[in-house]
Amino acid sequence: MGKIAMTTPLVEMDGDEMTRILWKIIKEELLEPFVDLKTEYYDLGLTYRNETNDAVTVDAANAVKKYKVGVKCATITPNAARMEEYHLKEMYKSPNGTIRSMLDGTVFRAPIVVKGIEPCVKNWKKPITLARHAYGDVYKNTEMRIPGPGKAELVFTAQDGTETRQMIHEFKGAGVLQGMHNLDESIESFARSCFSYALDTQQDLWFATKDTISKQYDHTFKDIFQEIYDTEYKEAFEKTGLTYFYTLIDDAVARVMKAEGGFIWACKNYDGDVMSDMVSSAFGSLAMMTSVLVSPKGYFEYEAAHGTVQRHYYRHLKGEETSTNSVATIFAWSGALRKRGELDDNTKLQHFADKLEAATVNVIESGRMTKDLALITSIPAPTVLNSRDFICEIRKELEAAL
Ligand code: NAD
Repeated sequence: MGKIAMTTPLVEMDGDEMTRILWKIIKEELLEPFVDLKTEYYDLGLTYRNETNDAVTVDAANAVKKYKVGVKCATITPNAARMEEYHLKEMYKSPNGTIRSMLDGTVFRAPIVVKGIEPCVKNWKKPITLARHAYGDVYKNTEMRIPGPGKAELVFTAQDGTETRQMIHEFKGAGVLQGMHNLDESIESFARSCFSYALDTQQDLWFATKDTISKQYDHTFKDIFQEIYDTEYKEAFEKTGLTYFYTLIDDAVARVMKAEGGFIWACKNYDGDVMSDMVSSAFGSLAMMTSVLVSPKGYFEYEAAHGTVQRHYYRHLKGEETSTNSVATIFAWSGALRKRGELDDNTKLQHFADKLEAATVNVIESGRMTKDLALITSIPAPTVLNSRDFICEIRKELEAAL
């Protein structure tokens, strides 16, 4: 059987530590034997980021703009310890942060659901995809400790000098004060990313805020979503039988617990921060979560939701055996290949992505898995495989399916 051809390259962003090791094995065992892989390669490993003063990260993001689809390995975000470990010239920013701000996207995270790794919430049968707005609110706030009695006001000075004032509180004693903002432009692009991704993945979209209490701030989010839905997406949603559902955040939380899953839950920044950890932990494991950055301009960047699995890497360096879960990284590749296939009308590539995912799921469901999953599975007496053997089992399954 000949290899599947690709017409347009994918942007491949290599990374760090254990995930870099997995990246190489995945390519060798699961991709290159079957696909005539066309990628434009960027090494976002910390050593090369340091050599290029992080220019490689910017180049990679620009390449995603050019080719529209990228796949990224987990990377180290430097801290003080990493400065020493890698002799860094400076404490570079998080590559994900740099890429996200250049592509102006929203990150969608979804659990990979397999039989034998059951969610803690019994009625969750299908994945719940979480979309978190990644700009503003409490993450860009200004706050103050109020020492004692006094008056706090909200003041906006327009460019022409006109002032608008509103009383916040007349303090009788000590307290706290906080100022937050958001931008119509950012909310609009968040909304468009969510509606587009819902159509793309054929899932309903839920959105919730506290607009009954926050009549300007949260209500603006609600209004912008509604307006963009009505003017740009309603027709397409109705045509495909999809629903856009808005409710209050407390009602959304209550409904999510009782739902079956199978929808996208769009969250404001803070809600998304909190709820994504709840959803991922309830579904089992960070190593079983996919993550895709979707820009309203139609760029897609796929990655695993977890980090570089540093502890396993140090064991690997000492020559010890590791059992690192490669599922989310495999799904990052399958997601990117499927999207490439869709954009290029390459059905063979799309089918390959489906088969790669099915092979991965089948291996786990047959009781062969990495240690992290063996610890939480309901499958009796699972076979624990090391990092490479797990991927090799998937290769056997894939070969049989192809
Ligand atoms: P991590 O996700 O690498 O590990 C957190 C915990 O989850 C560890 O206990 C680890 O053993 C477990 N775990 C995660 N993925 C696993 C997998 N595939 N298989 C088995 N177990 C897994 O996060 P961390 O330890 O906080 O960070 C390590 C490095 O990763 C840091 O340098 C950080 O900057 C980076 N990081 C990168 C990204 C990214 O690129 N998207 C995200 C988070 C952290």
